[in-house]
Amino acid sequence: MEEVKKYPLFNRDRIVYKLREDCLRIGAEDDDTIEIKSDISFWLEFIELLDGTKTVEAIAKQMNQKYGISLQKTYTFIKQFEQRNLLELLADSYHYDRRMDYFQSVITYYSSKGLGGVELFKKLQNIKITILGCGGGGANLALQLCQLGVGNLHLVDPDIVNCDNVNRQVLFTMDDIGQMKTKITQQTLKRKNPYITITVSNKRMNSVADVENEVQGSDWVFCAMDEPPYVAQRITNKACMELKIPSLYCFSQKSAGKMFMVNPAVSGCVDCLLKSCDSAEFRKLAGLFLNNKQKLITANIYPNITLLCSWIAKKWLDVYCGIEKNPWNKLFRFSFDLFEEKAFVKFKKESNCPTCGENNQDTVDDIWEVLKIE
Ligand SMILES: [Zn+2]
Repeated sequence: MEEVKKYPLFNRDRIVYKLREDCLRIGAEDDDTIEIKSDISFWLEFIELLDGTKTVEAIAKQMNQKYGISLQKTYTFIKQFEQRNLLELLADSYHYDRRMDYFQSVITYYSSKGLGGVELFKKLQNIKITILGCGGGGANLALQLCQLGVGNLHLVDPDIVNCDNVNRQVLFTMDDIGQMKTKITQQTLKRKNPYITITVSNKRMNSVADVENEVQGSDWVFCAMDEPPYVAQRITNKACMELKIPSLYCFSQKSAGKMFMVNPAVSGCVDCLLKSCDSAEFRKLAGLFLNNKQKLITANIYPNITLLCSWIAKKWLDVYCGIEKNPWNKLFRFSFDLFEEKAFVKFKKESNCPTCGENNQDTVDDIWEVLKIE
């Protein structure tokens, strides 16, 4: 049995207390409380041994000497505790350092929710996410990923901080006006979390090749660019499909935020979604937005941008951990007024999609003339 060499660590978010002389309660959350109604002192001692520095085998031996129970029985208790997300089985003895201290709430959350604890944290520390766009959405998402424990970020944005950005863009202050958004984001996040590696680029993304240069080597790409509308998403999509990198897209309107994810191995892509929305009216509107000369103001408030980015980051985490198994081919909408999520548009992989379709050789379609990419 491989697991006897592992080190059980009891999740320290669970309060353990005697409710009555004959009742031990573990946890105090309304949906996650366990009661044990016999052998209280045995269980208290057992829980105390689960400190991440003793192997399953050592704990079983100790319980055997003191209480005469078989090793197998203790293995079973540990397995049951693990199944109830009361502990995590660590591959190595728990090593407490400053980084673990900084992330202790996050790691305890990952463990207590049954997502993988330290193992998930280590995995996140090793991945790299590229965020295209460092404005209201991009900079806020960068902060969220940074605090989830993602170890490497690459930030791309050609713009400087303007006065009108400061109100709704979480990381910028009035002192930053005139500075590159990427640089300020990098500096602020490094002050917030010194354990992250952040690289930046100030190039403007005009073509598929531009995006390919920035995203290669990434495990995920978040597209938070909104200009030029549709084209920014299309070039990101094409680059990510070619490099086989999963990607995420988000948008904000005044009453709702929207997001969807593309997995090159299994799902339809941005162009499949655009195709499913296609109509004469859609083409007209897309063309208008693309060639618009009117100076439009973004109608948004800080609480809604933060709601949007928190929703996206949490949803991405659920997908990354495998809790949400099938987010593909769905455009999700989060209502800022009802605080509700809906799969707003469902689409499918289109066989004549110019990016991911198998029969895309001779596709001549007006929508791709309107939303041309290079
Ligand atoms: Zn497609």
